[in-house]
Amino acid sequence: MPVAKHFIAGTTISDVIEQGKILNAKGYKIIANFLGEDVISDDAIENTVQEYLNLYDLLDENRIAGSVSVKLTQLGLTLSNEKAILNLKRILDKAKSLDRYLWLDMEGSKYTDSIIEIYLSALKEYNNVGLAIQAYLKRTESDLDRILPKGGQVRLCKGAYNEPASIAIKKRPDIRENYKKLLKRLFEQGNFFAIATHDEDLISFAAELSKQSNVQNFEFQVLKGVREDMQARILGNGYTVSIYLPYGKEWLPYAIRRIRERRRNIFLLFRALLG
Ligand SMILES: Cc1cc2nc3c(=O)[nH]c(=O)nc-3n(C[C@H](O)[C@H](O)[C@H](O)COP(=O)(O)OP(=O)(O)OC[C@H]3O[C@@H](n4cnc5c(N)ncnc54)[C@H](O)[C@@H]3O)c2cc1C
Repeated sequence: MPVAKHFIAGTTISDVIEQGKILNAKGYKIIANFLGEDVISDDAIENTVQEYLNLYDLLDENRIAGSVSVKLTQLGLTLSNEKAILNLKRILDKAKSLDRYLWLDMEGSKYTDSIIEIYLSALKEYNNVGLAIQAYLKRTESDLDRILPKGGQVRLCKGAYNEPASIAIKKRPDIRENYKKLLKRLFEQGNFFAIATHDEDLISFAAELSKQSNVQNFEFQVLKGVREDMQARILGNGYTVSIYLPYGKEWLPYAIRRIRERRRNIFLLFRALLG
């Protein structure tokens, strides 16, 4: 499965633990993610919750430096907000008991409102949780107005879903400009944040902002299999770098998003499907 090999740790929980050890030894932290989205069967949702509880235990037992990222639509958001909140709290309790962090991925725009509401309600009880936000959405600046004053911690990414022009910035240079604007805002406020991109221009911009402002409570985040040369360079420059490390059998939607970002990756997908 070349796609799996390239972009994900493997299909099992032991694959992610093994890869986590290797990446830790090189100096990276990891962000483990069990692949899956839009899960609607109660059994599959419960299996996913159990998987995450087990994942936290294994990260702890193996002393792996890193956190976990979840999608609320794998915890029941497609069925109801209530279901997703209940399941999220179970996982957050486990994370908290082990002094570990949890990230919420941001998903397609159909879910943006719900994910932000659930994040804000989780923030009232937990301080070990952060939220991904997308620079391509026109609404994101005003979402930050709500999230930051409440102590929210965000992962700024460009956004990976195919959204309509009515709500999303479509031109790459314009997305980058909005990313810079949001990044400045993050450097001005006090909360911890994450810069999730492989865009060299944005990484240099962030490094410059950090130098000027003397703000260091952030980390860079990257995806497994994307620009590994650059990942090593950022790490070599003394920054904290966390590698998003997905695993599991439900890799197809994830792989398709990686192809949307870079057409050449389609060859990896063809090889995976034929194989
Ligand atoms: C840690 C992390 C977490 C993320 N979480 C979310 C999330 O919760 N929700 C969400 O919508 N999106 C998420 N994303 C994805 C993100 O929104 C972008 O789609 C993705 O990072 C590509 O954008 P870029 O900023 O790297 O810039 P781009 O302009 O797309 O890429 C910059 C350069 O990086 C390289 N590159 C980028 N992508 C690829 C690829 N797939 N294969 C090979 N090379 C590539 C190319 O050299 C490209 O020129 C996450 C990204 C990261 C790094």
